[in-house]
Amino acid sequence: MARPRIAVMGLFAADLVSRVPRLPHWHETLEALGAALGPGGKASNQAIAAARLGADARFIGKVGADPFGEMAKRLYDEEGVDRTHLATSAGEATGTALILVDDSSGHNAIVVNNGATAGMTAAELEAAEPAIRGADVFLLTLEAPMPLVARAIAMARAAGVPVVLNTAPARALDWSMLPAVAVVTPNEVEAAGLLGVPVASLEDAWRAAREFRARGAEAAIVTLGERGAVLSSGEGEVHVPAFAVPRVVDTTGAGDAFTGAFAARWATSDDMGSALVWGVAAGALACTSKGAAASCADAARIAELLDLHRTATGDLA
Ligand code: ADP
Repeated sequence: MARPRIAVMGLFAADLVSRVPRLPHWHETLEALGAALGPGGKASNQAIAAARLGADARFIGKVGADPFGEMAKRLYDEEGVDRTHLATSAGEATGTALILVDDSSGHNAIVVNNGATAGMTAAELEAAEPAIRGADVFLLTLEAPMPLVARAIAMARAAGVPVVLNTAPARALDWSMLPAVAVVTPNEVEAAGLLGVPVASLEDAWRAAREFRARGAEAAIVTLGERGAVLSSGEGEVHVPAFAVPRVVDTTGAGDAFTGAFAARWATSDDMGSALVWGVAAGALACTSKGAAASCADAARIAELLDLHRTATGDLA
């Protein structure tokens, strides 16, 4: 089977992660239980997730001429992600994210600075057009400047390349771009923020997914953390519950692992339901170890989880 080509556009950030017993208060200095520095940025994590599933991933973004920018380049070289269209800014710093992870639940709170990514230019995007045009799937987040997000989606559309739009982080969306999107993938917080409705129950998630379709997306997936994800498409609707994991260590990057794995599988199989199951499995595995890019599973681990689940449930499909 040919390797699917996935172009991914958005942020690389250096993640400084501290494990904490609780959130600090203003004016308080709280002692961390541990800390680590590693690669992150939603789109970058998604490119790593896709590459670990065997995709030929190409990353489109921008870093600074600084040690964190070097971290990005090393990462892509180690993971086999093409970085031809990773620009380096002389004047802006590489993106950063300060992440607090609750030691008991694995939940996180994040402050991100887009840095050089916020300074991506139209000319840099135009230079990356061949990577978008040559992809089987174009995946992007809302991390790059919004006019570039809109332009990149238009480029993919003009080339007939299906677009997966991960509406993260939560930001005002230019709704006019939605009809050019094949699959939109908000989490429940983003879906609620974008649509201005509460998304708490499964029924709310279905309603939100249908509303994204009513606003133009061909298909919509709403991810629901420990409740899995729902998909609404022209072929029907499905809820895939989350895979139970023995211990949730760190949920950072679960959505990215989900999205990258979904896109990589969908590009090979064209079967959105099956790709959704792979995404849900990848999201679960990402919760079982620390880090964002670092916690993305490869195809063998995901296949192993799916096999275990089939055995446990007697589902031989
Ligand atoms: P984000 O990281 O963007 O907030 P979610 O929290 O919805 O996104 O997680 C993405 C996917 O990862 C979910 O749809 C689910 O399949 C999986 N996932 C997230 N949290 C858990 C968990 N605690 N246990 C198992 N799977 C999880």
